[in-house]
Amino acid sequence: LLPVGAALAIGMSWLAVWLSRRQLSELAQLRRAVQARAFVVEYQPLIDLASRCCVGAEALVRWRRSDGSLTRPDLFIPLAEEHGLIQAITDQVMAAVVAELGELLRSDPNVHIAINLGADDIRSGRFLPVLDRLLQDSGIAPQQVWLEATERGFVDVSSASSVIEQARRRGHKVAIDDFGTGFSSLQYLQGLPLDALKIDKSFVDVLGRETVTSSVVPHIISMAKTLGLAIIAEGVETQAQLDYLRAQGVDGGQGWLFAKAMPAPQFIAYLRRG
Ligand code: C2E
Ligand code: CA
Ligand code: CA
Ligand code: CA
Repeated sequence: LLPVGAALAIGMSWLAVWLSRRQLSELAQLRRAVQARAFVVEYQPLIDLASRCCVGAEALVRWRRSDGSLTRPDLFIPLAEEHGLIQAITDQVMAAVVAELGELLRSDPNVHIAINLGADDIRSGRFLPVLDRLLQDSGIAPQQVWLEATERGFVDVSSASSVIEQARRRGHKVAIDDFGTGFSSLQYLQGLPLDALKIDKSFVDVLGRETVTSSVVPHIISMAKTLGLAIIAEGVETQAQLDYLRAQGVDGGQGWLFAKAMPAPQFIAYLRRG
């Protein structure tokens, strides 16, 4: 038994070394991508549920690898957060939005684009002067840029609140993203100066599969209404989910039922088709 155990232990330690090397090289590649500005943005339409019209989009970043393939953000945003790279990525996303959709935003003041912030962004607020400059230079109204931040950014409630306040004073709307996946409670939300709440896809998924009484969605909706927040549901895939969300007075929705994320030219065409 002993030799087997020893062999296993040696095998495991080699595995650990191999895994950490792999991670290191992924990190090295990510750093290089930040320097090379190797990120592209796709836009997922945001639908007003009452009018069924597209009113904007969420900007979703992708990493363009040297072979041309696109890597989804779930696979590199956590690594970027961990190694202090998120603010540089946010800068590139903001610049892409302004460059690709500036003309659209100037010509249609009712359209808005939501940008995702990392935890460091909402802690430091360093993105704000960068965004100010981009918007001033391109003549886009701050009201047309919404910001999404997850609970991870709100660990330090007082610094997050102050950054959110600064953003809102400029005219940006601020949403709490992926609501319900962390530790947020009603009490916690009350302390934050927010405009909107996004219901995470995992909660929307169960609508139509589980009985609604066993779902947390009605509670999230009533909580948001109590606080006067606009409500946006993400990951809407079925008509049954849409019917339920509309009946509950949810304001906005995103999901494959309407459209997947797409490059800027396709999004502009999608919006103009009406
Ligand atoms: P999220 O903000 O919750 O974004 C929604 C994700 O759900 C997107 O994945 C979107 O493509 C996907 N999705 C939307 N509708 C559906 C649907 O009906 N069905 C299914 N199966 N999926 C749907 P994506 O683009 O892979 O983004 C993953 C996450 O990465 C985002 O989650 C967001 O937290 C993060 N992320 C994306 N872009 C950025 C960024 O520029 N900065 C930061 N800090 N985070 C970002
Ligand atoms: Ca988001
Ligand atoms: Ca989300
Ligand atoms: Ca989500």
